[in-house]
Amino acid sequence: MPTAMPELRQNPATKEWVIIATERSRRPEELGSGPAQFAPNEHDHCPFCPGKEKATPPELLAYRAYGTEANSPGWWIRIIPNAFPALVPQGIPERFKVEDFFTYMEGLGDHEVIIESPEHQQTIALMEQKQVEEIFLAYRERYLALARDPRFEMVILFKNHGASAGTSLRHPHSQIIATPITPLHIRNRIESAMHYFDDSGTCVYCDMIAKEQKVGARIVSESNNFIVFEPFASRSPFETWVVPKKHASSFETITPENAKELAFVMRGVLRKIYCSLSNPDYNLVLRSAPVHEKNVEYYHWHIMILPRVSAVAGFELGSGIYINTVIPEEAAKFLRENTD
Ligand SMILES: [Zn+2]
Ligand SMILES: [Zn+2]
Repeated sequence: MPTAMPELRQNPATKEWVIIATERSRRPEELGSGPAQFAPNEHDHCPFCPGKEKATPPELLAYRAYGTEANSPGWWIRIIPNAFPALVPQGIPERFKVEDFFTYMEGLGDHEVIIESPEHQQTIALMEQKQVEEIFLAYRERYLALARDPRFEMVILFKNHGASAGTSLRHPHSQIIATPITPLHIRNRIESAMHYFDDSGTCVYCDMIAKEQKVGARIVSESNNFIVFEPFASRSPFETWVVPKKHASSFETITPENAKELAFVMRGVLRKIYCSLSNPDYNLVLRSAPVHEKNVEYYHWHIMILPRVSAVAGFELGSGIYINTVIPEEAAKFLRENTD
């Protein structure tokens, strides 16, 4: 298949953007073969393991032992461009019309992989606290770097853990994608929060935190600066939010000290999920304001963890209404009482 640059296409009826990135795909005739499974010998072929540095694009950043060379072993965190990027750092952030009707953009953006440990079998829930702190400091460092690029609107950090959460490699890693547009999904959230702000003069997330603290039933854990809870209207079992208590619309403004505290809180909640749900597959997403709206009163950054304990089916896709089979208050109690 010829390699082609990715592109962004907009659905004119819904205003949703889609990335067309053919390099990432298996061939169309292979798409019917079901989800990717980990091969029994995947460890031998893993490009993220130490000693395989030349099998990946050259590193953008690594936390490595003094005196070790770039793209060689000796690192404990390594950040590389994704070898099969959804978006690429070339092009201009302009909309074009095609066929005299449709809107498209070049697939401008950035797509990086954060390799979270040299150990193939590790997972955040089981790592030492220090290693998790380094991961969150690396998240912060790359977020700040991408947010500085004036061509980008959004920086989206996420993690797919396990085959049903969409990962094809077991080696612990997360990803960061910068986009030249604000996706509709994010725009809708921001607009809802903005309307709430217009009515009340307060941030809906700040108000939600105050309410959760008052009620208590949905809180999983708390630290000085972060609160972990199951949202009142969790879409699926054990949907978990980690939210800074002090108002901040963008992850960009987090201090290194708070990033370390966040690492402590995240490790704790991921351990609870690992232990009480037997290491479920999960997705983790950092939701932050668009980079040009980084200090606004109406939006509040947070992390969402979504264990893949139930499948999204036709009704959810057709209606946007999720059916959650676990009461959020009970999910919170279950996680709260799990002390590993
Ligand atoms: Zn590996
Ligand atoms: Zn707030």
